[in-house]
Amino acid sequence: MNIVLFGPPAAGKGTQSEKLAKELNNFKISTGDLLRSEVKKNSSLGKKIKVLIDKGELVPDSIINSVVENLLADKKYFNKMIFDGYPRNLNQAKHLDVTIKKHKQKITCVFSLTVNLDTIIKRITGRQVCSNCKLTFNKFFNPSTLDNHKCDSKFLEKRVDDTEDTVKSRYDTYSKETAPIIEYYKNQKILYEINGMGDISMIYKEIHHIISSLHT
Ligand code: AMP
Repeated sequence: MNIVLFGPPAAGKGTQSEKLAKELNNFKISTGDLLRSEVKKNSSLGKKIKVLIDKGELVPDSIINSVVENLLADKKYFNKMIFDGYPRNLNQAKHLDVTIKKHKQKITCVFSLTVNLDTIIKRITGRQVCSNCKLTFNKFFNPSTLDNHKCDSKFLEKRVDDTEDTVKSRYDTYSKETAPIIEYYKNQKILYEINGMGDISMIYKEIHHIISSLHT
C-alpha cells in the first residue's frame, strides 16, 4: 500500500511516517531528507537546494519529481511507499498520479495532519534529528532517552531551517502551495484529515485504525 502524509512544518509527518513504515514494513520516502543529503554532499545542485531550503521555499518540481519517479521505478519500493512531504503542490500531486499509474500502483490513502502555528513554533524550536539513525525527537515533548534511542547524544542535531523566521516562511509556503492539494485528494475520496495536535501515540492509533479499516 502507498500512503501520503502531509501537513505544515512540524505537523508530525516524519514521526508518524517512521512509525508506519516500521509497522507495515514499508519505506518512508521523505523528500526533505533526500534533499538534505544532497546538500550534505556540497554538490553544485546541493548548494542551490540549500539556498531554497534556508529560505523556506520549495525546490523546483522538476528535481523532486524525477527523484520520486526513480523510486517508483524501483521494484524494491513497489507498493511499499510512505511519502512524507511529497507531493507539496498541485503540480507534484498530478505528476505523482500519472507516474504511479505508469508503474501500475496507486495511492491508497492520504493523511493531512492539522496543527496551528503556535504549536508549530514550539515544536520546531525543540526538534532534534539523530544524524546516525534518522529518528526525530523533541527536547520538550519527546526527548531522546536510553529507552527510545540507542545512539549517542552527540548525533542529535538541529536542522538548519528549524528557526522561528524560516518556519514562518515555510508555513506561508504550505498555506499557499500545499494546502490546495487537500481539495484535490478530497475529490478522489482518499483524504483523511487528522488532528495533529494530540499525543504522538494517539495520532498514530487514529491513522492505524483508518488503515486497518481499509484492509477489510
Ligand atoms: P521537510 O523535511 O519535509 O520539512 O522539507 C524541508 C524543505 O525541503 C522544505 O521546506 C522545502 O524547501 C524542501 N522540500 C521538501 N520536500 C519538497 C517537495 N516535495 N517539493 C519541494 N520542496 C521540498
